[in-house]
Amino acid sequence: MPHPFRFELLAVDERTGARAGLFHTPHGIVETPCFMPVGTRGTVKGVWPHQLREIGAQMILANTYHLALRPGEEVVAGLGDLHEFMHWDGPILTDSGGFQVFSLNTLRELTDDHVVFRSHIDGSLLELTPERAMQIQEQLGADCIMCLDECPPHDAPREQLIAAVDRTTAWARRCRDSHQRDDQALFGIVQGATDRELRERSAEGLRPLDFPGYAVGGLSVGESPEEMYATLDFTVPLLPEDRPRYLMGVGRPIDILEGVLRGIDLFDCVMPTRNARNATAFTSRGPVKMRNLKHQNDVEPLDPDCDCPTCRSFSRGYLRHLFVTGEMLGGMALSVHNLAYYQRLVRDLRTAIKSNRVLEFHAAHLAGQADGP
Ligand SMILES: [Zn+2]
Repeated sequence: MPHPFRFELLAVDERTGARAGLFHTPHGIVETPCFMPVGTRGTVKGVWPHQLREIGAQMILANTYHLALRPGEEVVAGLGDLHEFMHWDGPILTDSGGFQVFSLNTLRELTDDHVVFRSHIDGSLLELTPERAMQIQEQLGADCIMCLDECPPHDAPREQLIAAVDRTTAWARRCRDSHQRDDQALFGIVQGATDRELRERSAEGLRPLDFPGYAVGGLSVGESPEEMYATLDFTVPLLPEDRPRYLMGVGRPIDILEGVLRGIDLFDCVMPTRNARNATAFTSRGPVKMRNLKHQNDVEPLDPDCDCPTCRSFSRGYLRHLFVTGEMLGGMALSVHNLAYYQRLVRDLRTAIKSNRVLEFHAAHLAGQADGP
């Protein structure tokens, strides 16, 4: 692992393989398991950086695809780097841009050498290669960056899945060979959908490249939760124990719990902020639909077990009023709360792992959600 990155395991739960650790990066130490709020365009929508700090966020994610299109990686570099640009001095991870190319229906050509895609903003044709993905992410300047990978649909024919695994391995090598900055940790991404043989093939191709971190890609893309958990059951043991493991784009609180139980260390998902903008809150007693008429005269906070700025300040009745009238503070306040809920979940998981009671925590979490309103 390149200096100054170091992954320190503090505790491993013997019954499950759940891990608590410290990931040292140039912009600070990340306690794992960690949930990264998603700042798609260099902003966690509706949330100030100091609020992210206050609720316990330690590392955040930004999307290379969106930032490369607008404002462009050179503009970001000219304004300092991503840390200065978005006023977040903690660790940042950027993805490679590949996921958006494959998922936004912008793909025009895919060969072993490159992908050509159409900008969803102005329709122009753009090229992404492994080398270009490294160059953009070096200019953005995040602490952790990702290899360009091919993300086929989960139900693609097996030949296509095999080709994607092999191309992902070849691209990972090119990314590693062209990546220059030793103050960035480059993560490899294991693909292979829900197929055990393909996950093995992918991990075997990537392990010799000795990446400082490994991600599991290609999940939470339409397969069932049970298929995702089963895939993690056989994929996580293929990854080196002494490197952080990142489950990309996952997920619901229960998926984070199940991922942690299977030895995952890092997560990211747009769900807490997206659901917040759609007036749905995560709470210790289950999900709450904020527009519901039953909240109209409710003076109670959204979640009695939450000490976030939203729950300390506002009643359910007021939050409902904000959504019913379309006030922007509604989505902002609920985003802070939902992110605080996720941060509390991973913080409680870290404590539970260190005190050897992660299975008990899992059972108590499920019971609490079932009791919900
Ligand atoms: Zn709250």
